[in-house]
Amino acid sequence: MIVDKVGAPINQNDKAKPDTSHGVILYVEDVSVSFDGFKALNDLNLYINDGELRCLIGANGAGKTTLMDVITGKTRPDKGKVSFGQQVDLLELDEAEIARAGIGRKFQKPTVFEELSVFENLELSFAGDKGIITSLFHKLTSEQTDRIREILVTIGLVPETNYPAGRLSHGQKQWLEIGMLLVAEPRLLLVDEPVAGMTAQETERTAELLTSLAGKHSVVVVEHDMAFVRSIAKKVTVLHQGTVLAEGSMSEIQANPEVIKVYLGEEDA
Ligand code: ATP
Repeated sequence: MIVDKVGAPINQNDKAKPDTSHGVILYVEDVSVSFDGFKALNDLNLYINDGELRCLIGANGAGKTTLMDVITGKTRPDKGKVSFGQQVDLLELDEAEIARAGIGRKFQKPTVFEELSVFENLELSFAGDKGIITSLFHKLTSEQTDRIREILVTIGLVPETNYPAGRLSHGQKQWLEIGMLLVAEPRLLLVDEPVAGMTAQETERTAELLTSLAGKHSVVVVEHDMAFVRSIAKKVTVLHQGTVLAEGSMSEIQANPEVIKVYLGEEDA
């Protein structure tokens, strides 16, 4: 049997299960990343609890994207520890293995297949990294069809099931892409600027969607839209110069003089 580096068979449904018995799903400890001597992350510590929805904010260049890149294996830190639950060392895994272990990442720009229907886009996700051709000849089991129907309800796209994805609004494409990630049943979802370019109504719907995903999934949202962060955040982490400047409830963050000085002062907080 072929096994990956975490000892699990290479199969989309078999993941290295993170041990979250201590309530923490993601440990980032003393992580530093340098680019030509410039420290994009500087001894950063971050802990995400199992099932929580965390918002990550910080000015341009604070290190938010670099942190996501480290968690998903795109960038290797110079030092530090990153683990999924207590025992899955993410620094030992490549990007595909990290995705299979249960960490999904949603980039800012939606990348759905415009010619295919909403249903087919979700169907494709069952093929994982096996590719589009395999997927087109792969017949869904009734369980998989049920799962897709369930996801369509979650992402609010039941009426659009058979629409070509190209006809969806920007917001609907974003929800579809979140749905495509949900097919793999990730334990941790990293979502980059989900409401950029959305209408007020779409933004509100996205807040409901992300809030509804927390609990079953842990969700980390990177966002600049402070009104949106205010509407969903229970706990907020503020990054500044590659390290955690402050962490707490939105009201604690808004009252923190350091945060006001370096970040919120620039916003209409
Ligand atoms: P934004 O909100 O603008 O996306 P951010 O908080 O995501 O910002 P990062 O993209 O993580 O910030 O960047 C942190 C710092 O590291 C920035 O100063 C950036 O210029 C630098 N940086 C990021 N990636 C690289 C790279 N590949 N090479 C050199 N410098 C980089």
